[in-house]
Amino acid sequence: MYENDGPANRRIGRPTHVLIIGAGLSGLSCALHLKEANIEFTILEGSDAAGGRVRSDIVEGFVLDRGFQVLLDAYPEAQALLDYDKLALKSFIPGAQVRYDRQFHTVADPWRRPGDCLKSLFNPIGTLNDKLLIAKLKDAVSKGSLKTIYEKDEKTTEAYLRQFGFSQKIIERFFRPFFGGVFFDSSLSTSSKMFEFTFRMFALGETCLPSGGMGAIAQQLVQRVGKSKIQLNSRVKEIKDLTVTLTDGTLIQSDSIVIATEGPEAAKLLNMPAPDAMRTVKCYYFSADRSPLKSPVLVLNADKDGPINNLCVPSDINPTYAPQGKSLISASVIGNDKLICEDLQKHVVNQLEGWFGPEAKDWKLLKMYNIKSGLPDNSPPALKQVEKPVRVRDGVYVCGDHRETASINGALASGRRAAEALIEDFEASVSKAVS
Ligand SMILES: Cc1cc2nc3c(=O)[nH]c(=O)nc-3n(C[C@H](O)[C@H](O)[C@H](O)COP(=O)(O)OP(=O)(O)OC[C@H]3O[C@@H](n4cnc5c(N)ncnc54)[C@H](O)[C@@H]3O)c2cc1C
Repeated sequence: MYENDGPANRRIGRPTHVLIIGAGLSGLSCALHLKEANIEFTILEGSDAAGGRVRSDIVEGFVLDRGFQVLLDAYPEAQALLDYDKLALKSFIPGAQVRYDRQFHTVADPWRRPGDCLKSLFNPIGTLNDKLLIAKLKDAVSKGSLKTIYEKDEKTTEAYLRQFGFSQKIIERFFRPFFGGVFFDSSLSTSSKMFEFTFRMFALGETCLPSGGMGAIAQQLVQRVGKSKIQLNSRVKEIKDLTVTLTDGTLIQSDSIVIATEGPEAAKLLNMPAPDAMRTVKCYYFSADRSPLKSPVLVLNADKDGPINNLCVPSDINPTYAPQGKSLISASVIGNDKLICEDLQKHVVNQLEGWFGPEAKDWKLLKMYNIKSGLPDNSPPALKQVEKPVRVRDGVYVCGDHRETASINGALASGRRAAEALIEDFEASVSKAVS
């Protein structure tokens, strides 16, 4: 498999063998597209399982995604690559319950029924004008192709919302906790292109959780790629020309390499300057005897008096997340990186008691995920060019969510683009050799 034949043999058109470094969604997507083109590959994955940031653990019969996450079924790359029926997707009720002034308020469906979204004129989450603007925003971002969004000028999400005319009320009480939670960025300094892309995806489809957890998405791709094509516990330490060295000293040569790791690791392997640190998030999972919510909805914190940014009960959306008779509660914290974990946990539990009463005291903490490599920083100018080049040098390619929007869609799309570039270069080398 690992012939010592380097790039010269690629040039004379012999069957090529590709090493893909990383079995996250971008690496798996790249592998599937290479497989379709009958190009041989092996994935080297540094950890003990495939999936990267989209993995789920089973703890006491509960399914815990590694950090709260959702699949937006309107993602075009996911539609093209995934079998949604097999994932048995279940949807959230669109909109949110917003905790503001010690009460919960409904923001019904800003994506598809913008007129109904602030249920009454007395709803303190936004103004009548905000309702009209949400309808206008939905129209603006749903028109045209994704490229239309990608080619616009970018500013921060906060500047964009203000310029659009939204009130301070709705920015603070809906957009900041909602999109702060999506981008792991309460400052809303994330690019307006990422905001428009995400708003469009929420507007055009459902927000879903698969049966068996988000990890089922990666597992579906693994099945199609073939388990035998993935070498687990094989962390790459160094790349020189077309030879990789694993941390245990093993040398592997190939015809082409695709680096499908997180952005900072890709930069390290390529001896390039490190990108900005990735955004962080913490996720607490609790077991409860019953759900504290009346419907399968996302809860947002617009009261700035506790660390929780957003909360949901995944088992209300998809019952496979909890054993029979139990509910799984997920609470996400953005920022608060200076508090030590024990203190933060106390604040989280206090906040839950404040929201749901003494029953929250009986909830059992199942696990806390402290995710330090959550999302690439998509603040301007990060998305000046949304679809960044995937060719690095002769025979070396790169993919991952740092090459596009920081999302499942971006990861899958970048993997496809890297495979397409590799196939194009390979075909060009074959025809050059023949002529
Ligand atoms: C908590 C959380 C919530 C999220 N929520 C959402 C959401 O709701 N919707 C959405 O669209 N997106 C969400 N995302 C983002 C989405 O999960 C990512 O954009 C996407 O999974 C990135 O895939 P990737 O292949 O680019 O990178 P990764 O998934 O990070 O994969 C990289 C892989 O490379 C491996 N690797 C790294 N270094 C090496 C090495 N030296 N040698 C070998 N292997 C190596 C890693 O172990 C990993 O498996 C969320 C992310 C997190 C963390």
